This record gives sequence, structure tokens and C-alpha cells, in this order.
Amino acid sequence: MRNIGLTWVEVDKDAIQHNISEVRKLLKEETKLMGVVKADAYGHGAVETAEIMLDSGVDFLGVNTTEEGIELRKAGISDPILVFNPGIGDEAQQLIRYDLTVTLASLKVAEIISKTAYKMGEEVRAHIKIETGFGRLGILPEEAVRFAKKVEEMGNIELEGVYTHFATAAERNKSYAYEQFGLFKKAVDDLISEGFEVPLKHAANSAATLDIPETHMDMVRVGNLIYGQYSSGDVSKKLDLKNTWLLKSTVMFVREFQKSQAVSYGSEARTKKGTVLATLPIGFADGFTLLPERLAFNLRFFLRRGAERLGIKRAQPASLIEIKGQNTPIVGRVAMQHTMVDVTKLFNIMPGDVADVTARRTSVSSRIPRVYYTGGHPYKAATITGTKVFKGVEKHEAEGDL
Ligand SMILES: *Cc1c(COP(=O)(O)O)cnc(C)c1O
Repeated sequence: MRNIGLTWVEVDKDAIQHNISEVRKLLKEETKLMGVVKADAYGHGAVETAEIMLDSGVDFLGVNTTEEGIELRKAGISDPILVFNPGIGDEAQQLIRYDLTVTLASLKVAEIISKTAYKMGEEVRAHIKIETGFGRLGILPEEAVRFAKKVEEMGNIELEGVYTHFATAAERNKSYAYEQFGLFKKAVDDLISEGFEVPLKHAANSAATLDIPETHMDMVRVGNLIYGQYSSGDVSKKLDLKNTWLLKSTVMFVREFQKSQAVSYGSEARTKKGTVLATLPIGFADGFTLLPERLAFNLRFFLRRGAERLGIKRAQPASLIEIKGQNTPIVGRVAMQHTMVDVTKLFNIMPGDVADVTARRTSVSSRIPRVYYTGGHPYKAATITGTKVFKGVEKHEAEGDL
């Protein structure tokens, strides 16, 4: 069929749009919404996801690097894009050429950008980043006015925005976030009283958008909530969020083993007689590694299994791969692009059966195709060899030589 391969990510356009409308419910009508599409849109595919967001009326896009901004521009996206971390000046020409909005976090970078813009005969739109206690980058609050004056003197940088970023908005205790916000508001007030009417003042990420409405200001910058996740288990307000992302792989090989046969690198795993293993084409190079919390879970599992062997407790394995809704434990080491799972207890597993895989979304390789769904049907797939558009309503099925 469409050469999507045996392992792919399903992205649900309807769920993304639903989550955006849930986020909008939290905002005043005049508050702008920035959709954050850094890190390949948290593993959803930057270009397609940006288009989905713009379709839902998102006002601004946020990326981390100049490169990420250029990728969106090259795909034909002309909406405003803020680059959080534009680098230290080498990319100035690219930034300006692609009409990206730059974050100013140091005087040196501002100077390089201004000089480059002069040479190119262009103007640049910029947002000043205020460092209020994240400890990453930015202008100190008490330096904000002096910095803004210097930038104004450069003559070709338009100060469109000023922002900060919270370190602890997702923690139960919000007092540090309030402290940061206080410093930010002071810097903003100083700017205003010196005549800098910066139109876009923003601070809130997902957690603050959810739990600290007074930080919404002119715009909120949201990633996690749009992707259907809370920033932590400690946020207090809840929305009706839908899952936007699923990782799928396909059983490519099934075999019954004899007693004590070796499985995978190191031959550490040995089968019992009658064990049935299925091979899936997904491994650590695809981003299928144990998540940190899973690792802890698995450690607990091994401890509990030890306890079980001593007759103390019953162990429950972590469910990282499921086939037909059933947990299929991983057997042997996860290889670069293959994993074997125990399907002995499942009835009649065959090549072509599809597995649901749990992985960290931002870690899943961009080599894995992203297939975009609406109304339960795929309409597009982004693969490393290009984009495929599905005509009409077809069911996406895995294909390949099974
Ligand atoms: C990633 C990021 C965001 C979005 O954070 P979420 O918690 O995913 O909403 C907002 N602002 C900046 C500067 C970021 O780097």
C-alpha cells in the first residue's frame, strides 16, 4: 500500500484540536495562544502539527532553535514564530531571512542581530527574555530598562514582546512561581513607566496556564496540554484532554521455542519449553528504551519478583508492549531495531498483528513515520522520504514482507 512500514506513530488531529479548545476555555478572549512545536512538536511532527494548530486558530508558534523555525517556513507557514533559543549570532542572517521572531537574552546577540539586519536592510521583531529564577538564560529584571534602551538605540529591532519562563509552575507549591512572576511584573512595570509599550507580555507555560490564571497576561505558551498531557501529577486543575499520540509496531515473526533456548544479544534470556515469542521491528535506535519512571518500575518489579520467589508477594510486570490489549513482556535485551516479546499466553498471534508500544514521545526517532488521523482515518503521513497524502478514506495498514 503506502510504504509506511511496520512501525509508526499515529497522531490524532481531532484530539489536538479538541485539546486546544479545552485550553482556550481557560483564557480570556483577548489572550493569545502560542502553540509550542519545539522538539518536532513533542514527537508529533513539527510541520503537520503546526498546521493543525494554525487550523484551530493558534496565534503564534514557538520553537527552540532557528533551524526548527526554518523548517516551518520552508513548509510554507507564514504565521509568527518565536525562537526561544536562537543561538549566539551565527544564525542571524537565517533568522532575519526567514522572518523569525527572535528572543533577546543578551546584549551581544542583540548587537549581532542588529548589525546583520542593517547589512540586509531588514527590521527584526524581538521578544526580550527576562531571567527571573529559572537559571537558564535572560536579562536580569533590574537590567530590563537599560537593555531595552540599548536595543531601541540600535534602531532596527522592534520590541514586540517580553517574557519569562517558570521553573516550578507544575509543582504543588506555587510560591516560587509567584516569586518569579513578581520579579517579571516589576520588570514589565519598569519598562512601561519608561515608555516601552511592549504589546506581548507572556509568562505562562501549560502548568501556569492551568493553575495560575493571573499569569496569562497577553499570551500563554502551551505545549503539554495541547499534546494531551499534564506537566506533572501535581497540577490541580483538570481539563478534558484527549490522547494525541500512539506508537504502533507490527509482529513480523512468531516462533515457538524449546527449553532453554537463547534470545537476543548476550544470550541472557533463556526460554521455557513451549514459549512463543513474537519479534517486533522496534528498538533503542527508534527511541524504544525504558523510560526513567519505567526503569524504577522495573527495578521494583525485580525486587518484587525476588519477593515472589521467596513466596512473599505476587509480581506485576510493566506493560510496555501490548498486543490485542494484553501485556506481552519483553524477553532478552532490546536490540537496536528489534524487540522480542512473550506471546505464549495470547491466542493465535500472527505476523501482521499490531502492537501498542509505550515510549517517551520526544525520544521516538524522527525516522519513524508519523501518520495523521482525522475522524478515525489517516489523511497524511510524514516519513523521512517525504509526505504522502492519502486520498479518500482508507484504512492505514502496516505493510511489508512478513
Ligand atoms: C517548552 C516551553 C514552553 C511550553 O511548555 P509546556 O509545559 O509544554 O506547556 C513554553 N515556553 C518555553 C520558553 C518553553 O521552552
